[in-house]
Amino acid sequence: MSISSVAGPGGPGGGGLVDAFTARYGRAPEAVWRAPGRVNLIGDHTDYAGGLALPFAIDRAVLVAGAARDDGALVGWSVQRPGDDAWLVYAEGVRRAATRRGLLPADGRGADLLVDSDLPVGAGLSSSAALTVAVAGVLLQLAGRPAGPEETAALCQEAENVTVGVPTGLLDQTALLQSRTGHVLAVDFRHTPPTVDPIPCPLNGLQLLAVDTRVAHEVADGTYAERRRAVEAAATELGVQNLRDAEPAAVAALPPALRRRAQHVVNENERVTAVVALLRAGRTAEIGPLLTASHASLRDDFEVSCPELDLAVDAALRAGALGARMTGAGFGGTVVVLVREDEASRVIAAVEAAFDDASMPSRTTRVEPGEGARALR
Ligand code: ADP
Ligand code: MG
Repeated sequence: MSISSVAGPGGPGGGGLVDAFTARYGRAPEAVWRAPGRVNLIGDHTDYAGGLALPFAIDRAVLVAGAARDDGALVGWSVQRPGDDAWLVYAEGVRRAATRRGLLPADGRGADLLVDSDLPVGAGLSSSAALTVAVAGVLLQLAGRPAGPEETAALCQEAENVTVGVPTGLLDQTALLQSRTGHVLAVDFRHTPPTVDPIPCPLNGLQLLAVDTRVAHEVADGTYAERRRAVEAAATELGVQNLRDAEPAAVAALPPALRRRAQHVVNENERVTAVVALLRAGRTAEIGPLLTASHASLRDDFEVSCPELDLAVDAALRAGALGARMTGAGFGGTVVVLVREDEASRVIAAVEAAFDDASMPSRTTRVEPGEGARALR
């Protein structure tokens, strides 16, 4: 699905959603939450390695409206998945994780839920984390038990890990919950919960583009788990808890397969630190080569890219982008591109042309750092 072709979520205030909820359930919603998607500017496959990342929330979001039910049932409808209940496993996961933490009463009050979204599903912009965060906001508000961003992030991660069965780290939930307009979030995963430092990201004369490859290769889940194991094995072999603390010479002496995985993580952490320093100095245009180096590392050392991601990155760079990289776990999803404003149209045209399907809706959209998840009602 194209980022630009999805239906809007009924206006920024969620007004359309309130009317739709009322029409469907015959009463007004008692809570409405908005949770955005995210782009990770740099720092991928570092969260579960106790490393660094630099995500930001984008201006596309999942909206969830809800009202309590007395019979314990979780009933839902999604405008994007009419008549299909499969996504309710995310809501059930949130309810279970929140109940286990004592945030929801054990006798399990239920809810009617309505979902609408302009965030593409399965494009690596984290629609799944946005869904869980918005559902968590609604269920906790209905129970009169609001939770802080760290607890909400942890329970949403638990929902995806345990009930849905996807082994995600904490990057997405943290980004969605704590982002601020005009900032990227320097997230340090050394400790749990991670620490978060908002860094101003002025785009004066620059633009960030998200390119949807429109592919999600099936190898993604198994390979993600395998990469996590390799990172853990490298740390064990080096006798460190965190690859950030490994001596470069010791990393270089690892067996080749482990060495390349570990090198990606070590070098990626350093690139995140360098990007943060440039942003703090107001030198945003200079981060481009670091973004491109991150892509090369994910492609060659960590081996989680794919032909479509490489095609988008190469086409953007050839057309004059300052930097480009895959963002997220890999094997499809989205590429983030940094480009000068006056070259954006040329870069977009070149990327569209590279995919040789110009009759399709555009795969490229401009993104900028937006606000984190919040209650609209
Ligand atoms: P990503 O998080 O990269 O978008 P995932 O595969 O992790 O991709 O999550 C996609 C899943 O999240 C969908 O299969 C669906 O179950 C759920 N989801 C996301 N957005 C919606 C929505 N608007 N309506 C219903 N389910 C959704
Ligand atoms: Mg996801």
